[in-house]
Amino acid sequence: MNSDPSSVTTLLRGLRRKCPNCGVGDLFAGYLKPRDSCAHCRESFASLNADDGPAWLTVGAVTIVAVSLLFALESSGRYSYAVEMVIVLPTTIALALLLLPLAKGFFISALWLLSRKPNS
Ligand SMILES: [Zn+2]
Repeated sequence: MNSDPSSVTTLLRGLRRKCPNCGVGDLFAGYLKPRDSCAHCRESFASLNADDGPAWLTVGAVTIVAVSLLFALESSGRYSYAVEMVIVLPTTIALALLLLPLAKGFFISALWLLSRKPNS
């Protein structure tokens, strides 16, 4: 596989938590720990460090959803604060846990893409 994948393909592979180069091997060894290299194509991920980027992306996305949900519930006027809390808090936690590994895969793929295609 010598042909380089497109940028969109690379980012989608990252969202699927797959190797940005081949799309077959797993990008992560666990929930959030990236592998050092792809088990399928041997592409190295050791130099790709996403730092806090995925966490910031997750916080931004979850905040938009949680605040929108809270506004919708509050403006309906049907629920007490306790019921709103029972709906919004688990939704917020579940969404954050779901989005964080996806955001990290996306960031690592974006970093891989930037390291492969220098601006010119
Ligand atoms: Zn691979």
